[in-house]
Amino acid sequence: MKNLISTLLLFFTISSSVFSQNYTDFFTDKACRVDFQFCGNNKQTSAYLERIKQEPFWGGRRLHLSEDLNLGQYRFLVTDSASNQLIYTTGFSTLYFEWQSTPEAKLVNKSFEQTVQFPYPKKAVKVAVEKRIGYAEWETLLQFGFSPDDKLIIRNPNVSAQVKNILKNNDSSKAIDIAVIAEGYSAKQRAKFYKDAKQLAENLFTHEPFLKHKNQINIYAIAAVSEDSGITMPHKDRWKNTAVGSHYYTFYEPRYLTSPNVYKIRDYAALVPYDAIYILANTPVYGGGGIYNFYALASADSKRAQAEVLVHEFGHSFAGLADEYFRENADVLDGMYNLKEEPWEPNISPLVNFEAKWKKDLPSDIQIPTPVTEESKTKIGVFEGGGYLTKGMYRPCYDCRMRTNEAKTFCPVCEKAVEKVILFLSE
Ligand SMILES: [Zn+2]
Repeated sequence: MKNLISTLLLFFTISSSVFSQNYTDFFTDKACRVDFQFCGNNKQTSAYLERIKQEPFWGGRRLHLSEDLNLGQYRFLVTDSASNQLIYTTGFSTLYFEWQSTPEAKLVNKSFEQTVQFPYPKKAVKVAVEKRIGYAEWETLLQFGFSPDDKLIIRNPNVSAQVKNILKNNDSSKAIDIAVIAEGYSAKQRAKFYKDAKQLAENLFTHEPFLKHKNQINIYAIAAVSEDSGITMPHKDRWKNTAVGSHYYTFYEPRYLTSPNVYKIRDYAALVPYDAIYILANTPVYGGGGIYNFYALASADSKRAQAEVLVHEFGHSFAGLADEYFRENADVLDGMYNLKEEPWEPNISPLVNFEAKWKKDLPSDIQIPTPVTEESKTKIGVFEGGGYLTKGMYRPCYDCRMRTNEAKTFCPVCEKAVEKVILFLSE
């Protein structure tokens, strides 16, 4: 490891200017994965590097590599060591960040697995991981440099699984590639998994803007085999040995389905080129979870609002959309938003920096805040309640896929935000 991590520069400065950059000048067709741990409590965060891996496919974007969409609680930046030029950046969020707003984070320090992926570099690079401290302000948590020919970079895949193309519409360099991973399917249930993955794809295309961009989307089903069938439910004392170890009752919330095993998830995803990860859980129990540029996870067989939940979770993980719902009683994630700061999510606002949100999309005659009437329910407005908060946080429409299962589709603001990500990744 000594040679892997080059001496840190005292002044680690990055040129943020956008320049015309050829993918092949800096990158190969493979991917580079960096595994690290987020550690801390409700007040502090540190990041510690664990390992660097070379993976066989890069499925992400090949254009505007040094631009970003200002999404995610964190971001990472890759710079060319020789020129100090920014050559790749992407934002992401984490389960760790959500945990920080739970009561447990006041009592104990914990660590969470995290992984970022970028195209495998041809020359020495420096990587920085940054935490958002304001709408457009960042603090560095981790920085290091490495050479792509370092012999200690791990190059062997450590999982195997059968892979099937569910939808192959375009070359992966021009498409959104979605890696769907089987969770809680035994070896005998492979056919069921492929059927469920196909159903997931069909559900996605019942929503715009996915339908109109269908020819830019590829979907791969990765049939990871689990020892047991079904998913762990700690609150029911039901424990299962599954491919990526997911479970309900995350942060003591019965329906919150997540997996802490991010490295294992990425191991399976690396069997295909991918932009986004969807973990399909073999269970009829209602629930799911989705975090921006992390993964989406949902039950494959829920009798209740199946299509709605699957698409809702993808709204989080693919486009960084916030939950637009709120409850009168306290929610487990109540403390996640500070009303004095504009959050980065495009579909909620405490009106601190509303210009950065959907203000330009408002009809000229709309009242702010918008009272709920039969007429306003069909318009873009500024409706109070969103992001788990009943007061002080606003959402763009009365209803939306990000608010209720009864909504028919995404509201126009969310639809536009999803389309922006599709175009950014596939153009
Ligand atoms: Zn919305």
